[in-house]
Amino acid sequence: MEPPERPVLKRLPAPSARRLSEQGGLREVMARFATGITVLTAGGEQGHGMTANAFSSVSLDPPMVLCCVSRAARMHSAIVAAGSFGVSILGAEQNELARYFADWRRPGGLAQFDEVDWSAGPQTGAPLLDGALAWLECRLAHSYEGGDHSIFVGEVVTADRGQVQDALVFYGGGYHQVGPRARATA
Ligand SMILES: Cc1cc2nc3c(=O)[nH]c(=O)nc-3n(C[C@H](O)[C@H](O)[C@H](O)COP(=O)(O)OP(=O)(O)OC[C@H]3O[C@@H](n4cnc5c(N)ncnc54)[C@H](O)[C@@H]3O)c2cc1C
Repeated sequence: MEPPERPVLKRLPAPSARRLSEQGGLREVMARFATGITVLTAGGEQGHGMTANAFSSVSLDPPMVLCCVSRAARMHSAIVAAGSFGVSILGAEQNELARYFADWRRPGGLAQFDEVDWSAGPQTGAPLLDGALAWLECRLAHSYEGGDHSIFVGEVVTADRGQVQDALVFYGGGYHQVGPRARATA
């Protein structure tokens, strides 16, 4: 009997850093990584909000999460000034909010929340958006340099889930909806 054919592993060409930036290559590669969408917020005098998908759970004990924020973004100084941040994990129907909080033409400060339903986080005062899938409030615990972004690690001080089940997902440069019915395996 013939031995089964072994799968051939394809060696990918090693991309040089130059090639990645010239072709927008890293952006295209990372577009293949499906993520949830959050709106990060900070309360206080520099109250602000920003759409972000560079968000991850870090630790359960103590409870910690991280987000990566461009140093060119107003959100960066807002989080540093507040020493805390809020996270609203967006539901499937909230793509307009995702677009709004990614648009630099929106008003500055708390005025940008005038047309949005929200309530202040009980621990940090950070705006938490109504109708989201879930919310967290975090105290800024650590900040690390990450190229043109900062990596903010937050200790979770409150966390809660909403009634919505379906999530907003960013994939291939666009917004998609996913829910429990779309499970890959039982
Ligand atoms: C799906 C998605 C996910 C994202 N994830 C992240 C993330 O994880 N982390 C992250 O840091 N960002 C992320 N962004 C980008 C971020 O949401 C936007 O850049 C947002 O506008 C930043 O808000 P800001 O008010 O804090 O910064 P802004 O003040 O809006 O500045 C953001 C950028 O816009 C430029 N800008 C400001 N004013 C002008 C102007 N008048 N003309 C031209 N350019 C101007 C600034 O130089 C800066 O580079 C994401 C965007 C999308 C759509």
